Amino acid sequence: MSTRPARRETAVAAAAEPGTDVTPPARAPDRPEASAPPIATLRVPEVFAATGGSPRGLAPAEAAARRARHGPNELPPVSRRHVRRLLVAQFTDLFAVVLLVSSAITFLAYWLERPRDPATLQLALAILAVVLLNAGIGFAQEYSAERTAESLQAMVPHTCRVLRDAVRRELPARELVPGDLVVLEAGDAVPADCRLVEAQEAAVNNAALTGESDPVARVAEPVPPGPPLQTRNCLFMGTDLVAGTGKAVVFATGAATEFGRIFRLAATAPRQKTPLQLQVAVMARRVAGVALATGALLFAVRVPSGQPFVDTFVFSLGVMVALVPEGLPATLSVSLAIGVRRMARRHALVKQLLAVEALGSTSVICTDKTGTLTQAEMTVVRLWADGVPHAVTGVGYAPVGEVADAGSVRELLRAAALCGNARLVPPAGRDPWRVLGDTTEGALLVAARKAGLDPAAEEARTPRVAEHPFDSVRKLMSTVHRAADGGLFAYAKGAPLELLSRCDAVRSGGTRTPLTDDERRRVAAAADDMAGQGLRVLAVARREIAGPRPQVEEAETGLTLLGLAGMYDPPRPEVRDAVDACRRAGVRIVMVTGDHPLTAEAVARRVGIVREPDPTVVTGPQLDALDDSGLDSLLAGSTELLLCRVSPEHKMRVVTALRRRGEVVAVTGDGANDAPALKHADIGVAMGASGTDVAREAAVMVLLDDSFASITTAVGLGRSVYRNIRKFLIYLFSHNIAELAPILAATFAGFPLVPITAVQILAIDLGSDVLPALALGAEPMEPDVMNSPPRPRRERLFSAAVMGRILFLGGIQALGVCAVFFWHVNASGIPYADFTRSDPVYREAITMVQAGIVVSQFFNALAVRTDRQSVFRAGLFGNPWLLAAGCFGIGLMAAISYAPPLQAVFRTAPLAPADWAVLAAFGALLLAAEEVRKWALRRRRPRPEGGTP
Ligand code: ATP
Repeated sequence: MSTRPARRETAVAAAAEPGTDVTPPARAPDRPEASAPPIATLRVPEVFAATGGSPRGLAPAEAAARRARHGPNELPPVSRRHVRRLLVAQFTDLFAVVLLVSSAITFLAYWLERPRDPATLQLALAILAVVLLNAGIGFAQEYSAERTAESLQAMVPHTCRVLRDAVRRELPARELVPGDLVVLEAGDAVPADCRLVEAQEAAVNNAALTGESDPVARVAEPVPPGPPLQTRNCLFMGTDLVAGTGKAVVFATGAATEFGRIFRLAATAPRQKTPLQLQVAVMARRVAGVALATGALLFAVRVPSGQPFVDTFVFSLGVMVALVPEGLPATLSVSLAIGVRRMARRHALVKQLLAVEALGSTSVICTDKTGTLTQAEMTVVRLWADGVPHAVTGVGYAPVGEVADAGSVRELLRAAALCGNARLVPPAGRDPWRVLGDTTEGALLVAARKAGLDPAAEEARTPRVAEHPFDSVRKLMSTVHRAADGGLFAYAKGAPLELLSRCDAVRSGGTRTPLTDDERRRVAAAADDMAGQGLRVLAVARREIAGPRPQVEEAETGLTLLGLAGMYDPPRPEVRDAVDACRRAGVRIVMVTGDHPLTAEAVARRVGIVREPDPTVVTGPQLDALDDSGLDSLLAGSTELLLCRVSPEHKMRVVTALRRRGEVVAVTGDGANDAPALKHADIGVAMGASGTDVAREAAVMVLLDDSFASITTAVGLGRSVYRNIRKFLIYLFSHNIAELAPILAATFAGFPLVPITAVQILAIDLGSDVLPALALGAEPMEPDVMNSPPRPRRERLFSAAVMGRILFLGGIQALGVCAVFFWHVNASGIPYADFTRSDPVYREAITMVQAGIVVSQFFNALAVRTDRQSVFRAGLFGNPWLLAAGCFGIGLMAAISYAPPLQAVFRTAPLAPADWAVLAAFGALLLAAEEVRKWALRRRRPRPEGGTP
């Protein structure tokens, strides 16, 4: 299944809509829909008969035939927003409406005026061109953003386990067909609509369909027909198995599923804008307001001074249009989309643009241990039984190595191997030995095989009759087996302290002896010794069962301890540097693990999270004893904090408390019950390779390689995106001042004509500004992004510092262009009142103003590249796109100045080399002024703060 809804709430809303209630899952495949008996009411053998399936699963040939008949198990490709609607939206946006109305008025003015001035027509056409161009860019951006989102979704791995001809396989979920027998475990997303035929303690979360996230129990027995989602033996695509295990027969796939129908309704939901986009939209609207007011002001000032009415009206309108920051929203989405793409290239898939900006201000990362900081490549290296340690040799999942004195740990390893669901897959082609399922359990299987045991043969000898699956609250699991004599017994394995508390005996010298307090302490010391070496420790136990099939409590109490297994999981080599980067960046790392405190501390030391001799180590039970204020002071006090033996509920509580303190929290999670914490955090990070579908669904970011280092990289990239956005905003808004200032100055100085025409301003905005702004949005990550503390959560994009910089740069530009204009005009000696539009001096002067803005924007683009560092140190040529975009703008300006057809349109004149030299000198002055400002800033504040400019 490659498509899942990006936003579940919408699916819920759609499901709740009147008239969209789901139909009962009465269809069995390969049978006419209407006459089919409700599959829920059938007994298990009848389910197989009705679907053409079998307890061995489908034969591959039959599956292929059904695949041809039913098509892939995929949701229909739904274009999220219809292309036409997307296009229309570009023209109904506020800016577009303002511009369209302006264009219409200008056309009207051209039609009314006598004699008709071609300049008015040009302006009307130019405004229309702006609308079309802008709509084109906007459409292209949004369309490609939708496609990106789709392809990103498709990259999220989505497979399922299926029995085909009695062989368990892992298949892409799209290959599922009706009649297939799927094998499900807690944490799996249900890949199609199916009917349970086997269920152990199964519970499902139907939130995607009903909005109700409490787990509900599911069974395999027939039930009377009723509302489909409450049918206690059916599972639906898009929901999640949150507890237990089971097998289920598929009865509907792809679009035929309930989810498929609701997905189509949900798929048209509008996208949400990020706070950053909203801030920019608000700012853009304010600027549009200023533009409108300026236009009105100019009109009001110029009409009484005897200017022709229509001329003045058209002029004021042109100024207003020119000041509207047309390309801004599109530039912003491009910048965010570039961030998403860069993160994807560095193994971090971001599902929402929102996460890109939140990542930039992340102040705490709560991280798991296994798989994120370590490689999740478990190898049992030590066993302990009856007071004696046993070394195990060999590395990885190849069952090659030896167990010292294997005979005396046989029962321990037999129990460890049978009490689990992982499978060892032999090497195929270039693939080495692999584990299918939980790597902890895989490592135990490997150890058993090293001791000469054949887990499959052992399983056949004492088949499993029940299972109480692992969950991270109990921290243990158990299986019940039938012995050769027909009696029952249970095996259990789990975290040492948890399991030990359920044991009342220990196996010693081959017999069961009571577990005295002394003996308990000895076992705990052995576990601590292994954990202190950074090993993950599991205790293993057994109990005989007298009566019929036992309940969980019975199978997991009164146990006899068989021994301990310690497994090594090497740290990921890249994590140490990533941890150092977080330290420099002021991002705090809190390790949150279900593991033993000593294991956690040893691993934390290895990867550099802990450096002090006494880090704060707090366990789940200790957290329980803290009230909210106690938890707050714990989080406020200790810098090196390890939370161990915690459950997902603790994780959730810690995330909530951190957010309450104003932190921006990223939290990792892989299990089904991590979903609440993932949803609650600012950035929920799920594991792409090893995590469950539930976690991936709840997270906003999925790590393709599961590595902590990828989170750090994403934080750096998030910061860099934010910086880049700030850069082009400063760049764009500062030049607006330079466009406005000469117009206002001329108006108030009593100069009868405009120092820059509306068409010229549009040429600047669309010729010289858009491309450099885009290039600034794509600036490479600066090496120092991770050298300053995170940006405060509440920092506004248009902070006082940013506004100050816009005024500083814009002010210098404004002074420069006003100077060149009046210098030119005054040097000619012609009285102001005698100037006409065709006067060569006037044409030269307005050309100088336009070229002055273009040239100074070239230097401005270089200046805004750094916040406080000298651009000469950062490297002037670090962004070749920016230079190319700047040169394009200057080339265009030269064409406007020298090419006769363009001269006719823009009423410009050819500039002399000396003019260009003056403008270049003035641009260099702007850069120099910025360098002085940055130097002063560096002197005043030697250390950067929050990355503020
Ligand atoms: P980590 O931070 O290392 O990823 P976690 O938070 O995922 O750990 P859990 O998977 O909840 O921790 O495991 C908690 C403890 O439960 C482990 O330390 C181990 O002793 C035990 N345990 C883990 N997996 C199993 C399993 N499959 N069967 C039995 N016990 C297990």
